This record gives sequence, C-alpha cells and structure tokens, in this order.
Amino acid sequence: MRADMWDVVVVGGGPAGSAAALGARRARPGARVLLLDREDFPRDKACGDGIAAHGAEELALLGVPGLIDDYRPAGRLEVISPGGARVLASVARPNRVVPRMVFDARLVAAAREQGVEVRRHRVRALADRGDHVVLDGVLAARAVVAADGANSAMRRLIGAPPSPDRHTALAVRGYADVPADDDVQFIAMQREGWPAYAWSFPIGDGRANVGYGMLLPRLRATGRPGREVLHGRLAELLPHLPARDLRAHHLPLSPGRPRPGAGRVLLAGDAAGLINPLTGEGIYYALVSGRLAGEAAVLAAADPVPAYRRGLRRSLGRHLRTTDVLARAAQSPGFIDAAVATAARRPEVFDLLVDVGLGAGTVPAPLAAAVAARWLRDTAGRRRAPVTG
Ligand SMILES: Cc1cc2nc3c(=O)[nH]c(=O)nc-3n(C[C@H](O)[C@H](O)[C@H](O)COP(=O)(O)OP(=O)(O)OC[C@H]3O[C@@H](n4cnc5c(N)ncnc54)[C@H](O)[C@@H]3O)c2cc1C
Repeated sequence: MRADMWDVVVVGGGPAGSAAALGARRARPGARVLLLDREDFPRDKACGDGIAAHGAEELALLGVPGLIDDYRPAGRLEVISPGGARVLASVARPNRVVPRMVFDARLVAAAREQGVEVRRHRVRALADRGDHVVLDGVLAARAVVAADGANSAMRRLIGAPPSPDRHTALAVRGYADVPADDDVQFIAMQREGWPAYAWSFPIGDGRANVGYGMLLPRLRATGRPGREVLHGRLAELLPHLPARDLRAHHLPLSPGRPRPGAGRVLLAGDAAGLINPLTGEGIYYALVSGRLAGEAAVLAAADPVPAYRRGLRRSLGRHLRTTDVLARAAQSPGFIDAAVATAARRPEVFDLLVDVGLGAGTVPAPLAAAVAARWLRDTAGRRRAPVTG
C-alpha cells in the first residue's frame, strides 16, 4: 500500500459529502479522511433551503446536534393542491430554513473540526486499481464516497447512467422580502404542466426562499426556453413576492431503488438520485446516505457496496418503494387533490404525509385505501357532472 493512502476520499462538500466525512470519522475515529470540493466554502447552491426536522435529527447522529438551532423553527405548513384543495396546519416537529451558503459551510467546518482534511479540488478522473482507487492520478484511497451532486461526474466515471429525464426535475429559487413574523411554509401546486409547484419558505430574518420547479419532460413540452417558463410561472404563482438572485439546478428524483455505487466507489445524496419524487426534498436523504456511505467506506473498505446497500435498505428501503408508488399515482393531479383534502380533515393524515414527503415515512395500507377511494369517488363525480356553458 502507498504511504500517502487515504482511508476515504469524499468528492463533494454538500450535505451528503460532509455527512460521509463525519460518518467515517465517527465510525473509525483514527481514519484518514479527505473531503474535496471544486469550490471554496461558503458557496451558494440553488435550493429551497428547507431543512426538515428529520434532517435536524440526522445532524444529531453526525455529532452536530445544535448546528442550525439559531434558525427560527417554522411551525406551520400550507399546501394548495393542483385542483385547489387546501390544508394549513401545524407540523408535529418544526422545520427550519437555512440558506445553503450558511448550512453547507457549517457542515464542512464541523467535518474539519472532527479531523477531516478539506481541500479545494475538482475531480475529473478515476482509476480502479483493485485494492484502491486513484483520483486524478495523484490521490489514492481505499474507498471513495461520490457526493458530487445532481450532475455527478463520479457517477459517469464508474459507468452508471445519469438520472433519466422522466425522473429529473428542474427548479429555480430566489429570495424575496416577507414580514419577519411570517412563519408559514407555503406550497402552491399547479395543474398546468403537473407535477409542478411553487414555494415560499420564510427564513425568519425578513426574507423567504421562493421558487418553482417542474419535471424536465413537462418543461420541454412547453417548447419555450426553460428560464422563461420557470421565472414566468414563479412570478405568476407568487406575484406578491418578487424574487432576486434567481438560480436553477437539476433534481434527480428517486426512482425507488438507489444505485449504491461500484467497486470501492459509493454514490450518496443527489449523485445516487435520492431526492424525494413527491416533494423535491433531498437534504435529509443526502445526510442519511452520506452517513451510511462514510460508515461503510471505513468499516468494509475492501468491499463497501454490499454493506452500504444493506444500510440504505434498512434506513430508507420501504420509504423509497412507497414514494415510488405514490409518485406514479401522483401523475394524476386528482390523487394529490384527494390526499390534500383528506389531510385537511384528519390531522394524523397530515402528519403522516409530512413524514413521507420530508422524512423516511411510509403509508399504512388503510390510509392508502382511504385516499384511493376518495380519488375514485371524486373522479367518478367529475365524470357524472353535467357539462355546462
Ligand atoms: C431549486 C431547488 C430547490 C430545492 N429545495 C430543497 C429544499 O427546500 N429542501 C431539501 O431538502 N432539498 C431541496 N432541494 C434538493 C437539494 O438541494 C439536494 O438534494 C441537496 O443539495 C443534495 O446534496 P448533495 O450533497 O448530494 O449535493 P450538492 O449539495 O449538490 O453538493 C455537491 C457538491 O459537490 C461539488 N462538486 C461537484 N462536482 C465536483 C467535482 N467533480 N469535484 C469536486 N467537487 C465537486 C459541488 O461544488 C457541491 O459542493 C432543492 C433542489 C433545487 C435545485
């Protein structure tokens, strides 16, 4: 073995990469862990900045429990479905909105404090040497965690296909001024081009993160430039919140089964295509998968993929299968209308949908049957309604 061998090299310093670095050091405190990012921190990342309570719990598992406690908890969530059903309710556990410029830099700093070496470096090449991996011809590692985001070069380098268009969304985010006491996270879904929605997530400092996203095939079907469509629809749905600093990025949505990696390279976060297809939330899944990948990389370096796959299956398997099935049903906007209408009447259903949309929740069969029954009833009702006008 080479003398300059790293136990783990993590590529990408977003939530997945920092979680991997922290997870590796916690699983094996003496491990030599190198975290690479093509940018210096703090750096911006197009995101809604919404960090669910579930994500905050993951931070505790990574040894940084109070990392975002200085940001105001957002206790209420309002959702308007594509057909106009509305629910406004208190969430069981509050979410927070933390600009990624702050959140990611804090996580990287925490990793550095825990003994992780952090360097600015853009990875372009990878060579599998059997018992280790060499990056860019100069960095050798027993295992690599690829956490380089939605357009992952590492994913390409190990021969894994990119996220297919039908599982990829494009979203734009900006910042707008709001009253400092606005504490409602607002989501307005849109029937035109469904699945598509706009959001306003107040930070608590007089600004809100606002944005709009839709699936790539639906965006292309408009026949208009993506920028014009996304910016236009954001302004249309939230006309009272003019946005600045607009910035867009892809979202690789989970197809139900994550691709864990190959050989000694593990994919985590967006590089593994782990964004919730119902909500576009990805930070929680980036933190979970990053931690699991970091642990597998140091505890099973010779053959980390099976250990990592088992960890993912245990933590997220049922949830990912659930969101896959629901995302198929949700292709019909009527299904979401029925789910939101049910959540408006039954607080326990609201809580459960929040768990599915933001965490690792699953849907009990009786609830799925109740929503499906309402959906079918509404659909049949619409078909029977006389055509007027
Ligand atoms: C507009 C928008 C809104 C969103 N809103 C939310 C939300 O409100 N809540 C939520 O939970 N999720 C949201 N998401 C999803 C969320 O942003 C992602 O799921 C999350 O950032 C994934 O984290 P990651 O660490 O996998 O990747 P990233 O955060 O993308 O980090 C990847 C890192 O890798 C680095 N990198 C890339 N290539 C290389 C290379 N070759 N070498 C070295 N470094 C490299 C990049 O510089 C970057 O720092 C949103 C996404 C978008 C686009």
